[in-house]
Amino acid sequence: MNASIVTGSCFCGAVRFEIELPTLFCGHCHCSMCRRPHGAAFVTWTAVPPERFRITAGEDDLVRFQSSAQGTRSFCRTCGSQMFCQTEPEVIDVALAALHGPIDRVPGAHWYYDSRAPWTVVSDDLPKLGGASGMEPL
Ligand SMILES: [Zn+2]
Ligand SMILES: [Zn+2]
Repeated sequence: MNASIVTGSCFCGAVRFEIELPTLFCGHCHCSMCRRPHGAAFVTWTAVPPERFRITAGEDDLVRFQSSAQGTRSFCRTCGSQMFCQTEPEVIDVALAALHGPIDRVPGAHWYYDSRAPWTVVSDDLPKLGGASGMEPL
């Protein structure tokens, strides 16, 4: 297999996909729109442009819903795994936890840190960003 391909899937395996490295970024998002659907303290995202992203199985099992004015999120209709978020045409956010292997970088920042759940304790030294865009220095 091509070393720059990383495969991924939902929990039940119905939806399978692959991305091709390099990725565009990687970081932890603390916004409530990520926390609620994923049922998590925060969501670690990476991203690739559409030409480096392919659904390889279960396209019909993937449910896309409009989660904001500009954004869609996608999940498996059987197991509910949230996998993708797209807010601009050229960037597909991929939940790092859905990938089966390592990518080309480690998480680089906390986004929307000022929106974090009050019970979330972060003890790393990564930049903690927030404000209106979620990516401004706090
Ligand atoms: Zn599934
Ligand atoms: Zn978010």
